[in-house]
Amino acid sequence: MKHRTIEVVVPPPEPHFVGDGFRVHNFIPSAYRLDMERMSPFIMLDYGSKHYFPPSDTPRGVGVHPHRGFETVTIAYKGKVAHHDSAGNSGVIGEGDVQWMTAASGVLHKEYHEKEFSKSGGDFQMVQLWVNLPAKDKMSKPKYQEIPHSKMGVFELPEHKGSIEVIAGHYGDVKGPASTFTPLNLLNAKLKQGSQTVFAYPQNYNTGLLVIEGAITLNHTEQVPDNHFALLNNDGESFHIEANKDSIVLILSGLPIDEPIAAHGPFVMNTRQEIAQAFQDFHLGKFGHLDS
Ligand code: MN
Repeated sequence: MKHRTIEVVVPPPEPHFVGDGFRVHNFIPSAYRLDMERMSPFIMLDYGSKHYFPPSDTPRGVGVHPHRGFETVTIAYKGKVAHHDSAGNSGVIGEGDVQWMTAASGVLHKEYHEKEFSKSGGDFQMVQLWVNLPAKDKMSKPKYQEIPHSKMGVFELPEHKGSIEVIAGHYGDVKGPASTFTPLNLLNAKLKQGSQTVFAYPQNYNTGLLVIEGAITLNHTEQVPDNHFALLNNDGESFHIEANKDSIVLILSGLPIDEPIAAHGPFVMNTRQEIAQAFQDFHLGKFGHLDS
């Protein structure tokens, strides 16, 4: 099996706030060349690195807004996030949990720090990833998957060297619980210091990783510190990770969706005309209703 080479290790871009609750570094699509085409099917990756929020009686977050044409995947590492959408779904996710919302034809939603977490304050750390949908599924029915930590597929590394938690796709024979529209793999590797692991996904799958905690050596050569994103080339299948400290690494690898992308704000479609239609439908109230 051929090794993938490393294209680049991207340091965290300057953070900005989404609403008043999400202090994020945007890697996809704005950092380096991590644009929507290069990283497809992953079209947005906002990383909220660990940040202390002081106690607040009013939960911080982002108010009602629409999405159409893709899925939002929220992965909580520290703190708790509450979600409500116009399809009637709601939930709270905490450390290790994932929320997978298929906006598809359109939803309104809001995302806030959970009430009790807001009141006590604390460290907050999370990832929000947008996964594109193929044209044929962009106008399908909205859907919601809440994936608690206890439901993850778990591959235990030998000698208590850590575990690989599979959210979607697979690691070896271990499968993740999320259902996806196109083939992709999304994993949290929780590695003890000194542990070594090999991952392998098809050469044409766009593949990268984000070091959430700790520090790793990638392919025996490249140091990747925490809060850095490593982009792998599509010139092989496998890559090698050695944990230099106890580490958590988010790994993404997916089959590109080879279709035109037209994106504007919260809408990601295939043509400008479909974007205009999304704005029109939103203003006509066709995304349903959600109280602020
Ligand atoms: Mn949103």
